[in-house]
Amino acid sequence: MNIIFVSSRFTKARTLCVDRCQTGVLLAGGLMLFILMSGLFGYLILFQFGGLQVPLVQKLLISSQQTETAKNREAMQQRLSAMAIKVGEMQAQVMRLEALGERVAKVAGIKKEEINFDRKPGRGGMFKPGESVSLGDFEGELSKLARVLDDRTDHLAVLDAMLSRESVRRAALPTASPISIGFFSSNYGWRLDPFTGQRAMHEGVDFVAEPGTPIKAAAGGIVIYSDYHPGYGNMLEVDHGNGLISRYGHASKRLVKEGDVVLRGQKIGEVGSTGRSTGPHLHFEVLLNGTPQNPTRYLNLPG
Ligand SMILES: [Zn+2]
Repeated sequence: MNIIFVSSRFTKARTLCVDRCQTGVLLAGGLMLFILMSGLFGYLILFQFGGLQVPLVQKLLISSQQTETAKNREAMQQRLSAMAIKVGEMQAQVMRLEALGERVAKVAGIKKEEINFDRKPGRGGMFKPGESVSLGDFEGELSKLARVLDDRTDHLAVLDAMLSRESVRRAALPTASPISIGFFSSNYGWRLDPFTGQRAMHEGVDFVAEPGTPIKAAAGGIVIYSDYHPGYGNMLEVDHGNGLISRYGHASKRLVKEGDVVLRGQKIGEVGSTGRSTGPHLHFEVLLNGTPQNPTRYLNLPG
């Protein structure tokens, strides 16, 4: 076998004669080199998939893994931060809801002990093996809860507004007792007049009390009459709006004047026996559009 070498350094091509034995050696050498290269390649492949350890490649792999972990950690941190913000918002909303709930309960006349907004509602049930919750599931539940909270807050706010309006309406009704000490002596309706002895309509109710006992406004309103009346003696009238007026007669003292704004339960006079009266008492009337009403219907007294 002849091998011809051609190079620019050589002036002419050189011919190397190789015999059969040398050819065999060359072939064997080439084969060895091929086996070695294949081995190295295979070794690297094995390392990649089989977990074999080569310091340099291992370092490269660890560094790439670290970058990946840092990215994951950052993404996780961002999701956790978003969730923490949402939880914070929900906590604030729950506080608003609690305050609103307490106000609604107060306006609706529900006792605090009946609804304790601080106490956790009871929950429970049989144990059943479940699946662990993923971060995605948790985010989903959190969003759902936030929507429910929004919805409940809106409902409660509407309820609060409605109840407040109702509360204002009720506050204007003369339902507070005009006297706290004393007793109820005469009912609204037909009776024998203590002066004439004849059947006459008694257009209010009488409360017997010691002279000087405070007379209180049965509801908030504006004083429209504060003067001496021949029949009612020292008389007071309070306008509560919506055509409702409360009247207080036979007082010894009038403590408010016409035009004064009075609050529910405010002291407006003192019990006396002025005018057509047989003894110290308060004559109390409720008028609706000028027509006397049975005050016990408002005061919740036995009528
Ligand atoms: Zn009377």
